[in-house]
Amino acid sequence: MNTLPQTLTHDTPESSARRRALHWGCAACFGLGSGFTLAREGVEVGGNSKFSKLVSAGQVEQAAAQQYQKMLQEASAKNALLPADHPQTLRLRAIAQKIIPFSYEWNSRAKDWQWEVNILNSNQINAFCMPGGKIAFYTGILEQLKLTDDEVAMIMGHEVAHALREHARERMGKSAATNIGISLGASLLGLGNTGAQLAGMGGQLLSLKFGREDESEADLVGMELAARAGYNPRAGVSLWQKMGAANKGAPPQFLSTHPSGPTRIKDIEANLPKVEPLYERAKAVKK
Ligand SMILES: [Zn+2]
Repeated sequence: MNTLPQTLTHDTPESSARRRALHWGCAACFGLGSGFTLAREGVEVGGNSKFSKLVSAGQVEQAAAQQYQKMLQEASAKNALLPADHPQTLRLRAIAQKIIPFSYEWNSRAKDWQWEVNILNSNQINAFCMPGGKIAFYTGILEQLKLTDDEVAMIMGHEVAHALREHARERMGKSAATNIGISLGASLLGLGNTGAQLAGMGGQLLSLKFGREDESEADLVGMELAARAGYNPRAGVSLWQKMGAANKGAPPQFLSTHPSGPTRIKDIEANLPKVEPLYERAKAVKK
């Protein structure tokens, strides 16, 4: 990937608009502190939750990496891990390669993440991206929903968005603050960690249930990531229609960890005008 989203080599209307926005942002910064958002092309989401600060990003990523490796080992032992040269693994890794460079703008740590993409052989309709860029898809979601590349990119963008926006870290911060109590809270803050506590954190990461707010945010950020990577953001509509149809049989695992609001498809449609120009431009560059 040779061009980062924020690397502007030509003086296009976009770049001068962005420069103006940055000037504006810096000017606002002096007066207002950190509570502002830069005017930028694409979707709009709010700031990160204060709760995420209770747990360090590095610790969450480390716990996720351990849990992910454990999951891969267990899957491999059961012959349920698709090999690196499997056509579906190659396909998903190629899609991730296109999306990842656009993630850096959303989270500066993402540049240093050891990104991984693996497919587990399981009928479950499920996919996730753990903190630190550890992506997994189940064969069930690819096969039962007959996902196109655009739809895969929408799911991957959505999952990556959860990681970039640190929704898991926020959840852990909240549970450290409310459920676990002061002693674990203190240890999460680096005042006396134990391996068991870290392992417990990692355990939460595989079955983490997101809230509707986090879902909407992941939908928006995900569709922008996919559009910038050259995938049709309209696929978000067909994807959620397919997911809804699958929900009429046995409810997909995916929907239990990613609760959907009644306006999800409408919200995606309403935001298409913000990301379709990005998609058109990415498509033009590809040709
Ligand atoms: Zn989600």
